[in-house]
Amino acid sequence: MPTIRHTRRRPLSGSTRLRMLIALLAASLLCLAFAPRLIVCAAGGASGAACTATVAYIHAQVERWHFDKGSWPMHDLSDIGADRNYLTAGVPRCPVNGELYTLDPRTHRVTRHDH
Ligand SMILES: [Zn+2]
Repeated sequence: MPTIRHTRRRPLSGSTRLRMLIALLAASLLCLAFAPRLIVCAAGGASGAACTATVAYIHAQVERWHFDKGSWPMHDLSDIGADRNYLTAGVPRCPVNGELYTLDPRTHRVTRHDH
């Protein structure tokens, strides 16, 4: 009859944790270094990148609103825009052409512009 050998996982040593932390930090720095370039490429240029960054900022606040309140902001973002805890200067306008941003009521994503 074969014997089953039970092995116990050893807890990670301090130096292993430190190596994992360093690797995680290095990966984070790489993301920070290359993510803005990817956004610029996706948006088709610097002006599009400014709009994309604004959309990302609004969307992060929309997600935070949903996490805090359990509901989504209004389609025209008027409620979240009035709450300075989320959008400190109101709903920003597009830095390229001044268009307003809205929230897609179906996907709860900030609508992107076509420029
Ligand atoms: Zn725009």
